[in-house]
Amino acid sequence: ANPTDYLLAVEGLTVSFDGFKAVNDLSFYVDSNEIHVIIGPNGAGKTTVLDLICGRTKASGGSIKFRNRELTAMKEHQIVKAGVGRKFQNPSIYDDLTVFENLEISYPRGRTVFGALAFKRDAAVRERVAEIAEMIFLADHLDQRAEYLSHGQKQWLEIGMLLIQDPELLMLDEPVAGMSVNERKKTAELLNRIIRNRSVLVIEHDMKFVEDIAHRVTVLHQGKILSEGSMERVKTDPKVVEVYLGH
Ligand code: ADP
Repeated sequence: ANPTDYLLAVEGLTVSFDGFKAVNDLSFYVDSNEIHVIIGPNGAGKTTVLDLICGRTKASGGSIKFRNRELTAMKEHQIVKAGVGRKFQNPSIYDDLTVFENLEISYPRGRTVFGALAFKRDAAVRERVAEIAEMIFLADHLDQRAEYLSHGQKQWLEIGMLLIQDPELLMLDEPVAGMSVNERKKTAELLNRIIRNRSVLVIEHDMKFVEDIAHRVTVLHQGKILSEGSMERVKTDPKVVEVYLGH
């Protein structure tokens, strides 16, 4: 396929830190409605790739096209506006606010925002909050303060806070780290709900979870692609077994 057919097209992406190429001439593509997982050993460059896509780190070379718009020249907030959401490993939810309030303050508003917590709770916002809460398994917890949620629920809430901004691509860093078996199952279900009308790019170490969710896997090693394809294909690739899965 032509690169312009993809939701996200990363081509020749390179970044050096003091001469060390953490990401080295990397090209990969994310389709619409796809769960794309990046795996690879520690230091492979996975986090750096997400940092480059969300604009936190500036590329030294290459391009990142999202719906055919070049992201490498944009600032972080412009990339968010363009439709790319990023969740970091540590939740950035507000502990002393309820689930409802956490979602409400994340709802995108007009240009000027004064007194974010005091803004009018109009019907549209409430409807959207309810919709997202249902999706993230927290419909029955809207009035609960976030600090009393379980670890997994906090992670889902943060995903919900991103979803309410309606990104077309959601990037998640180890979404099931520290979760119970049941929470993992529900997270897999959540990702499948999310991709009905958007795409997900995930960094994940839990191979069982990757097998459950991934449509496509990109294996990184020393800033380059070691292998890519379905998990079926990738996990039997001798190169992958040697550097990553074999030990
Ligand atoms: P992974 O997420 O796959 O574990 P990272 O993307 O965190 O790998 O790191 C890739 C390499 O780049 C590592 O060797 C790391 O030490 C290096 N690196 C990442 N960020 C920086 C930075 N800001 N400055 C210097 N080196 C960095």
